[in-house]
Amino acid sequence: MPGDKPDSAVALVLAGGIGSRMGRPKQFIDLLGAPALLYTLRAFEEAPEVAGIYTVGDQSHIEDLAGEAGISKYAGCAPPGESRSLSTRNGLRLCAEEDGTLVLVHDGSRCLISPDLIGRVVAAAREDPGADGIVPALPVSDTVKVAKNGTVLETLDRTKLFAAQTPQAFRLGSLREIYAGPEERLQVATDDASLVERAGGRVVVVAGEKTNIKLTSPEDLILAEAILAAREGVRREVRS
Ligand code: C5P
Repeated sequence: MPGDKPDSAVALVLAGGIGSRMGRPKQFIDLLGAPALLYTLRAFEEAPEVAGIYTVGDQSHIEDLAGEAGISKYAGCAPPGESRSLSTRNGLRLCAEEDGTLVLVHDGSRCLISPDLIGRVVAAAREDPGADGIVPALPVSDTVKVAKNGTVLETLDRTKLFAAQTPQAFRLGSLREIYAGPEERLQVATDDASLVERAGGRVVVVAGEKTNIKLTSPEDLILAEAILAAREGVRREVRS
């Protein structure tokens, strides 16, 4: 198995959403001439800590994409579930590595993920082997209010608030145990760490990246292309 070498990690890239807020599947949207998911796969391909890349989504589409792009770590594709967490569960069934292997669960639509951030998440997991999960996150800069029917009920203490990103790292064994739980509990989760937290696990935060956005609405595409173009520009400058 790709991730069976001591202390290696595998990626589980979720690309099975239908993109209801975008109006089309976000992971295949064209960004500067390439599908968004290709940038995601390339980042994990480039990250030396990652031994294999599992995916969830449209198998023939993803397989073609990985093949054309020469993603050598591509290790398979599971069918999507009804919700994000059921997609994670399907993907976990595909991972045949042993329980101690690190699995990095990632939103395929976070296509600006950098190999650097992947490395930091893996390093945090290795430095704190007792942690049950590692989550990249950024402090929230807006003031966050709880509202109902258009009326504010409460203003939250911003100093305690973080916006969680992916990839989130876990040991395969503990995630397998959590995902063996009741489907109703899984359905409501919007990330994997929240399930680990609910099971009493200790989840550690590392600094995320502001550019690690999730493609959600059409404006995000403008932002994503600008970031990619800036990165391309930097690469060209380094080359010349
Ligand atoms: O819907 P949300 O933005 O939380 O989706 C996060 C990631 O999970 C996306 O990359 C999406 O493709 C994936 N997903 C999935 N299966 C679903 C829903 C979402 O793989 N049923």
